[in-house]
Amino acid sequence: MIVAAGSGQRLAAGMPKALVRLHGRPLLAWVLDAFTGHPDIDSVVVVGPPGALADVEDCAAGRATVVAGGTSRQASVELGLAAVGSGVELVLVHDAARPLVPASVISGVVAALRAGAQAVIPVLPVADTIKQVDGTGQVVATLDRAQLRAVQTPQGFARSALVAAHRDARERSLTEVTDDAGLLEVLGVPVVTVPGAELCFKITGPHDLRLAHALADEPSTATPVGEPA
Ligand code: C5P
Repeated sequence: MIVAAGSGQRLAAGMPKALVRLHGRPLLAWVLDAFTGHPDIDSVVVVGPPGALADVEDCAAGRATVVAGGTSRQASVELGLAAVGSGVELVLVHDAARPLVPASVISGVVAALRAGAQAVIPVLPVADTIKQVDGTGQVVATLDRAQLRAVQTPQGFARSALVAAHRDARERSLTEVTDDAGLLEVLGVPVVTVPGAELCFKITGPHDLRLAHALADEPSTATPVGEPA
């Protein structure tokens, strides 16, 4: 499931983030290529912005089922889950805002699920020292960096466990949860980590988009630099 229903306000591109272009193609198209071209992925659901579903359908070009998302990421995931085929046992949830997800990360998440994990997250070590602060900005504690990990997507789940965790969160009136694995964690489900990748970073602000432009392979159809368009 690709969640793509965010507004992209922090990117300030005047359109939903998933439709912002990277080397001439929407971020969502890059993500769809990564998943539909992966041998472990059988089907894809895209959760799109309610106001731009026609553009999302164009981008999907028949490669995915498209449904409308909600006002929070959590709501969008739950709406997407309702569209996942009934025979599906394993679900990966990926942010459309991570267009350069490498195939190896998808493979790693799927492999851990097939080995029996109920919940799997790709992670990276943390490079910066992380401090806990209070409401005034004063430092409360310095966290042990060796024990911290930055979490990426795709996160992988046994479908039944993810559905139950979202139902539980809604019943507890949690509405803005951005980490699906965290919902299972509070229910006592063990969450397994696998290696993430620096290329799997999330595009949040304009700086991230410039970085993606520098790191992404240009599509082979792109006009080479220096030649007339
Ligand atoms: O806002 P943020 O970058 O954390 O969003 C992460 C992902 O969740 C994005 O791919 C975004 O499109 C998606 N999202 C969503 N529905 C929302 C908010 C965010 O599908 N209401």
